[in-house]
Amino acid sequence: MTSPTEKTNLLGLPKAKLEAFFESLGEKRFRATQLLQWMHQRGVDDFDQMTNVSKPLREKLKEVAEVRGPEVIFDETSKDGTRKWVMRMDNGNSVETVLIPDGERGTLCVSSQIGCSLDCTFCSTGKRGFNRNLTAAEIIGQVWVARKAFMPFEPGADRPITNVVMMGMGEPLLNFDNVVDAMNLMMEDLAYGISKRRVTLSTSGVVPALDQLGEVTDVSLAISLHAPNDELRNQLVPLNKKYPIAELLAATRRYLDRLPDKRKATIEYTVIEGVNDQPEHARQLSKVLKGLPCKINLIPFNPFPESDFRRPKLTATRRFQTILNEAGYITTIRTTRGDDIDAACGQLVGRVEDRTRRSQRYIQVQQVTP
Ligand code: SAH
Ligand code: SF4
Repeated sequence: MTSPTEKTNLLGLPKAKLEAFFESLGEKRFRATQLLQWMHQRGVDDFDQMTNVSKPLREKLKEVAEVRGPEVIFDETSKDGTRKWVMRMDNGNSVETVLIPDGERGTLCVSSQIGCSLDCTFCSTGKRGFNRNLTAAEIIGQVWVARKAFMPFEPGADRPITNVVMMGMGEPLLNFDNVVDAMNLMMEDLAYGISKRRVTLSTSGVVPALDQLGEVTDVSLAISLHAPNDELRNQLVPLNKKYPIAELLAATRRYLDRLPDKRKATIEYTVIEGVNDQPEHARQLSKVLKGLPCKINLIPFNPFPESDFRRPKLTATRRFQTILNEAGYITTIRTTRGDDIDAACGQLVGRVEDRTRRSQRYIQVQQVTP
């Protein structure tokens, strides 16, 4: 995974890969257990502090490996307790990670890519274009930084991170292997020990990768639907032209059917005023989802400067919710958190140097079509 001059960053290696790494050094596999605990449970990145590892092995590790988390360049807590970190990754680009405390629950929203190539019309990340995939170390590094911020834990205190959602910047299924490695570390008892039900991958619907996902993991699933028919979804989520709603929901069902336990998918629906918020859309949605084990999460659109879309009135969102509730769906409205520190959904932009130059194209389009 590295060139001869580069050191292996052990932070991103799930247990099996870390065991293979130690075997390649001629060491015993149980070293992986020790390293996982030092790195992830205790937040240690200095081999010299790993006191149950022999001195010669520590010296060897220093030559060929490193434990390197992302550099934190911004760390602020909102009035409502939401905490946001901006982390600088290797090529100078930054991504954002948000922790949303809610009673005993602490949900960490993690990014999978720098930018996103899918260009959904209502998403500021998409508008900034795509730069690159994050490595597994950079993805789990966000959890590592957030967890370290609460160390040492007070005895008996609530755990600060109980849930992780892959809902930050990027499309996780387009960075498949690294996201799977990072999610395995989230669920690993020797690392973060988060239950598979509480690790959620959110996708806009890369159907073949969703089927592949079911073969390698059993995390929870959130589907970014946003529209009840293909005509409208084609406009909001361009990927729908490749994988339309019926195919996406069939793949979602296949995924749920494979799970060893009974679980519902979360259907995410960003509600945009005058676009997808009419009672007719709610009725269509209730038909389209019929028979799928799911709950629906309505996300009022969060405006951002480059978008003409507007946030819906709360009454319109409530009316939408009532129709779905009456059709028998558990439906929640996501409250906006962390507004004062720009931590809300769709505002996780970071500073992206766009390899696709989409932001420039977008600005030009905006200028010619006022
Ligand atoms: N790419 C993945 C995960 C990241 S986006 C996906 O699309 O599912 C995570 C969620 O943020 C998506 O459901 C998306 O709809 C939502 N989102 C993006 N921009 C938003 C905005 N401006 N307002 C509200 N929600 C937004
Ligand atoms: Fe990418 Fe998700 Fe934003 Fe769409 S909503 S552009 S898939 S990050």
